Amino acid sequence: MRTIAIIGGGFSGTMTAVNLARFSVAPLEIKIINSKRPFGRGVAYSTTRPEHLLNVAARNMSAFPDHPDHFFEWLRSRSEFDSVSDKELLEMFVPRRIYGDYIRGIASIFLNPVLPGTEVKLGVIDDVATDVVKLDQGRASVKLQSGKKIEAESVLLATGHQPPAGFPSLSPVSHDPRYCADPWANWMDRLPSAGGTILLLGTGLTMVDAVVTLTEMGWCGKIIAISRNGMLPRSHFRGIHYPDFIPENVSEMNLTQLVELVESHCEKLKQMSQNSAIAIDKLRPHTQKLWQNLTTEEKKEFLNNYANLWNVIRHRIAQSIHERVTDQLDNGQLELLRGDIQRLAPQEEGIEVQYRCENGSEKSVRGDLVINCTGPQLRFSTCDVPLYQNLLKRGLIQPDELDMGIKVNENFAVLEADDKVSEILYAIGPLLRGSLWESIAVPELRGQAMRVAQVMLEQEPVKTEDQYVIEYCI
Ligand SMILES: Cc1cc2nc3c(=O)[nH]c(=O)nc-3n(C[C@H](O)[C@H](O)[C@H](O)COP(=O)(O)OP(=O)(O)OC[C@H]3O[C@@H](n4cnc5c(N)ncnc54)[C@H](O)[C@@H]3O)c2cc1C
Repeated sequence: MRTIAIIGGGFSGTMTAVNLARFSVAPLEIKIINSKRPFGRGVAYSTTRPEHLLNVAARNMSAFPDHPDHFFEWLRSRSEFDSVSDKELLEMFVPRRIYGDYIRGIASIFLNPVLPGTEVKLGVIDDVATDVVKLDQGRASVKLQSGKKIEAESVLLATGHQPPAGFPSLSPVSHDPRYCADPWANWMDRLPSAGGTILLLGTGLTMVDAVVTLTEMGWCGKIIAISRNGMLPRSHFRGIHYPDFIPENVSEMNLTQLVELVESHCEKLKQMSQNSAIAIDKLRPHTQKLWQNLTTEEKKEFLNNYANLWNVIRHRIAQSIHERVTDQLDNGQLELLRGDIQRLAPQEEGIEVQYRCENGSEKSVRGDLVINCTGPQLRFSTCDVPLYQNLLKRGLIQPDELDMGIKVNENFAVLEADDKVSEILYAIGPLLRGSLWESIAVPELRGQAMRVAQVMLEQEPVKTEDQYVIEYCI
């Protein structure tokens, strides 16, 4: 029987396994190797806190690109939404833990099949994959931390986000109980007394999660969040219908022309008293193509000059969450600082964070508890992950041109160090950020999970990847 090994059991790995089971017409064994986060939930959907909401409306969170209403229909089967109208439910930002239940529920149908005659075996192994070695006759062996090995004909890397970036001079605080390197770990039982200060390093979505949890817990101390841009993610809003403005000849446009085009539409929307983020949303179905058309220099320029603004506009949060955070800003409990974090130094009273301001001056701020909310490390080749380092050493993968992840071809087959297309290794998900830019959220990942399953089964795609990119996710 053919075996496919999937490294990573978050959304991407789990949904690829489900699609393999859906589409396979021959006996197949699927082995998911997953560690750290609960199988099926990954980082995003393993939270148990009810105040952590999805940042995409229910109508755009189906796990299946070929069944766009699947999540909505699944929600309809839950009694807690009985009193919510269809219209409201479609636009709802439901708790992320419920989304985790959804994915786990889908997977359980295939883990414990009830239909007779199922020839697909799906199993989950709780272990860390540390290496992949090519064997003869188109097979590979996945080495696990426990010392076990899994042999397979195809191996999918669905390992998700890279671990969070550290800071210079982190070592003096890395084992300090007042420093929390993993924002998803249980820091709630380490809260300082009400007169204390919590420092959040980063001002993005992870910081927002921490702030809403602190307010939910009724913690009354001071919260200071610091990042290079000091910008809060924007809020979702009810948009208007706006025509698609990407011209036919878009592949001939350079970055400057694209920026001018988008800025002109932002201006037009402002004059209509509308939110200019609508112009960014209209790019969504085209973003991967636009990104791939840019030169490496243009991509670097985008990362340096526009990515911060892009991220706060594109990765918006539910209005109710935005209101909670801005209330905390208004009442002074939360303060946002702008600065480049330089050093973390343990002191007798708290941890001191030294940062450089835009004008070059150095300042410091002290926290009784410091939580790293900076998000995943962006430089792939220096990432301290044994699996990636071993694959790089063996030449089985190569970093993309921006060193944000790895290179794949249009079928998600990995490109080896000599540009040869791997016959064994595939990759999807956040590992492809440098290649595709938009490769982190469900509206992209569900398409990737279905497409790569069909590729590994050597089946023709049902639809093209472009059609899987759902319009936009206001
Ligand atoms: C806090 C948060 C909220 C989000 N909210 C939304 C949202 O509302 N809507 C949306 O569309 N997107 C959201 N996202 C984006 C999210 O990244 C995707 O939706 C999706 O969950 C990514 O899934 P993944 O499987 O690719 O990665 P992950 O969820 O990171 O899963 C990867 C899994 O692989 C495991 N793993 C990694 N390496 C190994 C190894 N070597 N051996 C064994 N196991 C390994 C990891 O431990 C993890 O369990 C959110 C992301 C975060 C972080």
